Amino acid sequence: MDVFIGVGSNLGDRLVNIQKAIDCLKASVGIEIIKLSSIIVSDPQGGPPQDKYLNCVIKIKTYLSARDLLNTLQTIEKKLGRKRLVENGPRTIDLDILLYGDDAVNEEDLVIPHPRMRQREFVMGPLKEILNSVERIA
Ligand code: AMP
Repeated sequence: MDVFIGVGSNLGDRLVNIQKAIDCLKASVGIEIIKLSSIIVSDPQGGPPQDKYLNCVIKIKTYLSARDLLNTLQTIEKKLGRKRLVENGPRTIDLDILLYGDDAVNEEDLVIPHPRMRQREFVMGPLKEILNSVERIA
């Protein structure tokens, strides 16, 4: 399954956090990284006053179910020291499932396509960059 993951960080060394998240994804069983977008700077939306974010989108291939993938992403978030202190507050790393193939999921704690992605330029910009890039010319 082709899956797009949204990545954000605005706490600590943001670039190192994103690199570590990519390393963890690479090391995860059942996940292959296909493409990385550019990393962009974005203003925080909602929540308390906080630093700017670095964001990117990662395209992966996986045979994990959407639920197992969410569990994997949450394990990586915890490993990188993410604590949920304030809603929409600053975070070491945020990993969201944006698209899971063409599937739609509507569960209490898992909604795909990610419900707020279309309004978020910091998601749509990097996502379009990957979608518009040429795969490979043989
Ligand atoms: P956040 O604090 O913004 O990372 O939100 C995390 C919560 O969003 C988790 O409890 C997830 O269960 C829930 N969630 C719902 N849909 C998704 C999704 N597509 N990707 C990641 N988390 C999701």
